[in-house]
Amino acid sequence: AKADGRGTYRFFEAEMDARLQERRRLERDLQQALLGEQLTVHFQPLGDCTTQQIVGFEALVRWNHPERGLVAPSDFIPMAEETGLIVPLGEWVLREACREAVRWPSSIRVAVNLSPVQFRHADLAERVIGILKDTGLPPERLELEVTEGVLIDDSARALSTLKALKDAGIRISLDDFGTGYSSLSYLQSFPFDKIKIDRSFIGNMPTNEDSRAIVRAIIALARSLRITVTAEGVETEEQLRLLRSESCNQVQGYLLGRPAPADDVSARLAEPAPE
Ligand code: C2E
Ligand code: CA
Ligand code: CA
Ligand code: CA
Repeated sequence: AKADGRGTYRFFEAEMDARLQERRRLERDLQQALLGEQLTVHFQPLGDCTTQQIVGFEALVRWNHPERGLVAPSDFIPMAEETGLIVPLGEWVLREACREAVRWPSSIRVAVNLSPVQFRHADLAERVIGILKDTGLPPERLELEVTEGVLIDDSARALSTLKALKDAGIRISLDDFGTGYSSLSYLQSFPFDKIKIDRSFIGNMPTNEDSRAIVRAIIALARSLRITVTAEGVETEEQLRLLRSESCNQVQGYLLGRPAPADDVSARLAEPAPE
């Protein structure tokens, strides 16, 4: 049994080594990707729930790895957060997104995700405001999406950063609403401009009365707090119809459009509005 145990241990060690090496490789590759041309930003439309008219686009990073092909954000954002690479990466995405958005009609906003790790740096607000100045995008046209994780680490600092961003005229959205542990208390700690209902609730709406009740309650809550509500992950007409009947403000999801390269956005914006 002893020999067995050691064998298992050695196997485990070898496995850990392999994983660690794999991780280091990916980390080094991501560093390269930041310097090279492997990262790109895709844009997904956000539409008015009633008219489906496009009101903005969310910027979503993509990594086109030379050997691995397209790597999903869920496969590299956590690593970028652990290594701190998310700081230059996040700034790069923001700059790219603003550079694109400045060419869109002035009624169209751009939404950019910020990681809680970016909030650990005291100068985040100044950096964001600097990027707006550099690119010429008016602050009112930028929405920054944060998850409640941002208020966990060092909430005093995060709150003062959020306040500085809001004071500069930038809108702040609470992303993935309903998936965390204490979403409601976050609504009390900061005056968010928008909440985005997580797609897990939207997907279940047509078949699950409880999901519908939750969505209805979130929309009612947001309305009384005068916060805009966006439903994420709207994939079907049925979901859209239900959200409309609940008076949701905005929708995002494959039904309206998948994330696509910046060139497609211009084409999309040139299309006539849906009836
Ligand atoms: P998120 O911010 O919640 O972004 C929405 C995700 O849902 C995107 O996945 C989008 O492609 C996907 N999605 C949109 N509509 C639908 C739909 O109708 N059905 C389904 N099944 N999925 C839909 P993506 O692009 O893979 O990004 C995943 C997550 O990675 C994002 O979730 C966000 O948390 C993170 N992320 C992406 N880009 C950035 C970035 O530039 N910075 C940071 N910090 N995080 C990012
Ligand atoms: Ca988001
Ligand atoms: Ca989300
Ligand atoms: Ca998410």
